[in-house]
Amino acid sequence: QHTIDKIAAGEVIERPSSVVKELAENAIDAGASSVTVEIKEGGISFIRITDNGSGIEKDQVPTAFLRHSTSKIRAVEDLMTIHSLGFRGEALSSIAAVAQVELVTKTHAEGTGIRYLIEGGKEVSLEEVGAPDGTTFLVRNLFYNTPARKKFLKAAMTEAGYINDLLIKLALSHPDISFKFINNGQVKLHTSGNTNLKDIIYGVYGREIASELIAVEAGDAGVQIRGFIGKPVISRGNRNYENYYINGRYIKSQIISKAIEDAYKTFMMQHKYPFAVLHFTIEGDLLDVNVHPTKMELRFSNQEEIYQLIVRTLKDALSGREL
Ligand code: ADP
Ligand code: MG
Repeated sequence: QHTIDKIAAGEVIERPSSVVKELAENAIDAGASSVTVEIKEGGISFIRITDNGSGIEKDQVPTAFLRHSTSKIRAVEDLMTIHSLGFRGEALSSIAAVAQVELVTKTHAEGTGIRYLIEGGKEVSLEEVGAPDGTTFLVRNLFYNTPARKKFLKAAMTEAGYINDLLIKLALSHPDISFKFINNGQVKLHTSGNTNLKDIIYGVYGREIASELIAVEAGDAGVQIRGFIGKPVISRGNRNYENYYINGRYIKSQIISKAIEDAYKTFMMQHKYPFAVLHFTIEGDLLDVNVHPTKMELRFSNQEEIYQLIVRTLKDALSGREL
């Protein structure tokens, strides 16, 4: 059983940033308004994630670490239309299989909380403790029992960079949640959670990020687009400044990247890659989703239709604007 968990863990948990992704998404799903991520050594030796969300009920704690245990909807076809980010029930079991995990959690309704220790998939202890409402996961020594996998990790600084990039994506996709990222005791990112997307963008990237940010608020049958687009002051010559979210989820899609770039190019003739933070709401029946659950690559069966729809909507929104 532990072997199976370790194998499954390899698909979900590749590196420290995958741990942070899974746990931060759980915090978001739990309705947290504040999420703090602390790491040491690129997250390899230490990751602590604290949220003020719903907490986990006492008698649900060991269960939550079982494989395929989820309190959320789990049909892959529903992935893009369901509200929660998690759905597979694989994260906690996968993380616990390859690290030393301490969980402290308390629900609002319960008087005391629970402290639970699990290492290498084996329960170590479970005790009642006083705790604030919400959940704290401490994940230590990732891959301590799978040295072959540990070898594939990069330098701590590189791993920390991946986590930073991920938290930027999460902060921009959830402007209403305050995110804090602390790396080796230094605050690297702190968003206010005040719901104003432009403030969050400036908070994350600094005010100098784009020469001007054009607000996009456009709708067409089936697709709504909301957010900002502009010319990055320093072009990276790649898609690193293209942030887009589909139905609240950070996702990669060749078609959507291309549509954004093609619409943008008609306004900035010489400039290929925009700075963009765009939230797409796409109707379920336009999404014939075929998505790898962790890679987050989205494909559409009706590519051409989606492409045209987005280009047209974005061009409409940008027309008459000076970039
Ligand atoms: P999934 O997110 O796919 O449901 P996970 O393995 O990530 O599966 O989590 C298992 C379950 O543990 C969740 O369904 C949820 O009920 C509970 N859980 C995990 N993290 C939190 C959290 N931070 N706050 C509240 N509940 C949580
Ligand atoms: Mg989850």
